[in-house]
Order: sequence, then structure tokens, then C-alpha cells
Amino acid sequence: MTNVIAKLRSIAFPEIMSSHGFGQQNNGHPMNDLLIRGGRVIDPANNLDAPADVAIRDGRIAAVAPSLDPSQARDVIDASGHIITPGLVDLHTHVYWGVTYWGIEADPVAARSGVTTWVDAGSAGAYSFPGFREFICAASRVRMFGFLNLSAIGLIAPTWEFANLDYCDVDLAIRTVEENRDIIVGIKARIDHNTTRGVGIRPLQLARALADRVALPLMVHIGNGPPPLREIIDLLRPGDILTHCFTGGTHRLLTDDGRLSPIAWELQQRGVLLDIGHGTGSFSYRTAEAALQEGVFPDVISSDIHQLSVQGPMFDLPTTLSKFLNLGMALPDVIDRATRRPALAIGKPELGTLRPGSPGDVAIFRIEEGNYAFFDVDMNERQGNRRLICTTTIAGGTVLPRVPERPPAIWAILPDHQRHNAPNAPHRTTSP
Ligand SMILES: [Zn+2]
Repeated sequence: MTNVIAKLRSIAFPEIMSSHGFGQQNNGHPMNDLLIRGGRVIDPANNLDAPADVAIRDGRIAAVAPSLDPSQARDVIDASGHIITPGLVDLHTHVYWGVTYWGIEADPVAARSGVTTWVDAGSAGAYSFPGFREFICAASRVRMFGFLNLSAIGLIAPTWEFANLDYCDVDLAIRTVEENRDIIVGIKARIDHNTTRGVGIRPLQLARALADRVALPLMVHIGNGPPPLREIIDLLRPGDILTHCFTGGTHRLLTDDGRLSPIAWELQQRGVLLDIGHGTGSFSYRTAEAALQEGVFPDVISSDIHQLSVQGPMFDLPTTLSKFLNLGMALPDVIDRATRRPALAIGKPELGTLRPGSPGDVAIFRIEEGNYAFFDVDMNERQGNRRLICTTTIAGGTVLPRVPERPPAIWAILPDHQRHNAPNAPHRTTSP
């Protein structure tokens, strides 16, 4: 108990004050460790959108109710005027920092963005998975999972992981999955002109076989062909994930006259999940607007946060969610696509919800109103009047401390058109 209080006291809540209610008797019931009071709770997994309090005990959600007694909690966060959601689940991230070209360190970003479950999208392949497990997953405060890259070298470099088919060792990948089923939630294959030159669709056929053998979903990245989109989507099955679904590249889900491609409906009817994966090159307002106009919503909104995209105009998951909010999606629908739905996509229904008994992962936001410019990856601008700002991230019942982020890697230089135009991140804390 003393430890918990000491830890919480040492944390500066930037915008929400904490107070303490010690010592009261609880008629034999255990005290709650933390009570989050007075916010609007949005928990799509429980169809909940209402004012409520959330209690956490022993690292898990203990109760969600209209009013919970603050004297029965060791620490209290006043969240009045704020949104309380399950800790966000980001389905497309790159967190193998220090080893891969793309990887960032998750914990400092988690503390300012509300993301408590980070799903790495194929940074590690069979050769580098032991390090991902030990140096990243085990060493992080946030929850981590990963899609295993079919290429045994993973994403150590920016491109060409499939150019040498010798790296596509399906048997080795199967053994890696079998030894790491607690972490590996799917198979990743990037299929575009940068990764498959000279080998065509072959890596995706192998990834298909691998995913079938281990009975896990396949996440496929699209962008610019070849191979053409049709060859790619013909290899996708229900539960698979098409990431970068609103790309503006040649794989874009648009017809030549700028309308939504019928392939988008086909994919949704087949149960293939459309995942945003914004990143540096993969979110186009033209595609997004055509889709939303036709009533085709993404199944999952993820960031594709990495060494470049964290510098903007993606920045972080709350900024990405804010873009969809300003495109007209309702707040609960947006939250659903960053909590319940990605949790289901990785077969972890106990995450992305505030159901009592589930892990004590909670995010607190305020909705800031004003005039904001948002940008897609080609720096096309849209005006918005609301944005989500994370004020507190709680992982496993503990408030994550705000700590400085590492500076960008020396090779992580934004493309020219983004570097000269990217506005400053709203809430980034960088090292001096
Ligand atoms: Zn990615």
C-alpha cells in the first residue's frame, strides 16, 4: 500500500489533480487502489457511454458504476470534464527500437497517448524474435504483442526484406510461433514494390501458407504495386487484416474517377479487416473521404507509429483518432476502433474494455475545442474543431510517468514534403 501511494504521489498529473483518501474502514471489503471519478466513460465492448466512476484493485478493473465511494480508494483521480476509455489498443506499431530502422520506444509515448496495448507489426522475424521478446516485451511497462514477419530478418532495414526468398523460411517461422504463442498474434507480410522486387507475389503465398499452418491472422501491408492489389486480396481470408487500407498509393481503394472501389465492399463482406496504419505514407484524405461517404468505415484505426511517422503528420494514435472524429465519425465509434475491435482482431477480448476483472488499463482524455489543421501523408490539409488530448495513461493499474522520449534516430529524416510542412506535435516531450 505504501508503495502504491508513494509511486502515485511522485507522479505529476499534468492536468488532473489526484487526492488521497486513506485509512477508512471498509467493512472487511478490500480497498480499491485507485478511483477515477466523474468522467464520461466510453466502453464500446459494454455498450457504455455514460457518466461513471472506475475503480481499480490489484491491477485490474474492480468496478464501473455511476458513483463509487472515494473513501474506499487509496488514490483518487478527478476526471470531471474528461473522457475515460479502456487503454487504447494500437494494432499497428513499430516498437523494436535500437534494433530496427523503424522502432521507437513505446513507454514514453504510451504515457502521453493512452495506448496501453502495443501490437508490433512485423518488426521481428525468426532471427530477431528472441531479442524482441527479452529486450522489448519483457522490459516495457505497457502490454505488447507482435505479428511475426515471414522474413526471418524482419524490418531491420527500411526495405527489401523479401527480396531474398531464402529469408522466407516457413518452417523456422512455424517453430518461432510455437515457442512464442503468448506474444505472437499473427503473421506480417509487407507486399509492395519496395519489398517484393523480382519475386512478385511469392512471399504472400508463403505467408498465406504460414498463417494457415499456425492458425493465426495474416496482416498484409499494401501501398504501391506491383504486385497488383487483386493478386494480394485474393490471398486474404476472414479475420485477416489489410493494413494501410486508406492508402493513396497505387493499391488505393479508389476507382479512376475517385469513387470508392467495389473492392472495399468485397473485403468487408469477406470479413477482411480494414486497418488504417496511418504511418508516413499510408493515409490519404481522398481515400478516407470516399470510403466514409459510402458508409465504409475502417474496422480498426491504428497509427503505424515509427521513427518517421512519430515526427508528424501522424504523431500519435490520439491525433489519428481525431482525424476520424473530424471526418464525422462519432466519438464512441472512433474509440471502438482503437479498443474493442483491435483487441478482437488479435484474439484478446479481455483487452480494450473496462469490464470488471479485465486488466487495469485505462486512458483519460480531454476533448479540446478550437481550430486545428490536420494533414494526411501528402500534406493535404483539413480543418477540424476538436481533438483528443490524452491526460493520463494507466497500465495494469499504475499511472505511467511522463518521461522524455528519445530523439529520432540519426537516419530518421522525414521526406522533404513532410519535413518542410509538418507542424509541431501537440504534446510531444523530447529529450533536450
Ligand atoms: Zn508499419
